[in-house]
Amino acid sequence: MSRLSRRSFAASVAAAAMARPALGQGAYPTRPVTMVIPFAAGGPTDTVGRLIAQAMSADLGQPVVVENVGGAGGTLGAQRVANARPDGYSILLHHIGMATIPTLYRRLSYDAINGFETLGLVTEVPMTLVARRNIEATNLQELVALIRQRGEALNYANAGIGAASHLCGLLLMKAVDTRMTTVPYRGTGPAMNDLVAGTVDLMCDQTTNTTEQIRAGTIRGFAVTTPERVSALPDMPTAAQGGLPGFEVSVWHGLYAPRGTPAPITERLNRALVAALQDATIARRFADLGTAPVPVARATPQLHRDFWQADIAKWRPLIQAAGQFAD
Ligand code: ASP
Repeated sequence: MSRLSRRSFAASVAAAAMARPALGQGAYPTRPVTMVIPFAAGGPTDTVGRLIAQAMSADLGQPVVVENVGGAGGTLGAQRVANARPDGYSILLHHIGMATIPTLYRRLSYDAINGFETLGLVTEVPMTLVARRNIEATNLQELVALIRQRGEALNYANAGIGAASHLCGLLLMKAVDTRMTTVPYRGTGPAMNDLVAGTVDLMCDQTTNTTEQIRAGTIRGFAVTTPERVSALPDMPTAAQGGLPGFEVSVWHGLYAPRGTPAPITERLNRALVAALQDATIARRFADLGTAPVPVARATPQLHRDFWQADIAKWRPLIQAAGQFAD
């Protein structure tokens, strides 16, 4: 955050705090709330989380402090929150991995299905297939030919088993019927640094991490993995337009609290999330990065839970059929 925006952020938190009536005993929140991001700083989940945390801070009148707990495909951060005290001071911003992890990981030290209260959906983000800028291909057809020719000599970066980049890589390798060597990171923020440096060859990641790099020419973008093009990257074809129909995935994010967090607290957190989703600065920043906040009508705890559980059921047979588990 720049010094100026840090100052205006502090001022808006203070103003929100002053605007509220005096808080009585047992009021919530009376101290900072920790938002765990289960991937490294600087990546797309981190970007979404920090924007939302800033706007929620203003609404709650207490700082929402981001803590990056990366590693093991997003399971370490999820574990931290599932096993935290259910008092509203530990929340989790996670993504589609919440739907794949329960099947991918057969041994976890937290309950990946029943260990959380849902607080609301946040956003759905397209993914992009990207490569180091000097890759020996200029369009998707050439890239597919290169992958088929070089196979495991190419390094595909991801954020570990369960990450969206892992899932997208599996779909890509299936679509081109060729395996590459995967290189896992604690998040695609650090993976992006290596892609820009050219020490890995390829990655698939959310537009929230790739749009600015593609525009700056520090990496090369080949396709978006959504049925429609993305307005922030108008020149980028969809995978289907580039010759890979069926290579489709987008990454939804949701907010969670530990199971057993009292309803008045989850309701308060949902209201703060809804305020963040209506924040014009967030909508603008998300649009710049190729995404949008979910419509507030979809940001209810119940719709989030239904969507999440349906997505677990959708991915389970696909993962089981592929037989690729984390253990
Ligand atoms: N985009 C990453 C993923 O592959 C995670 C991250 O660093 O945000 O899931």
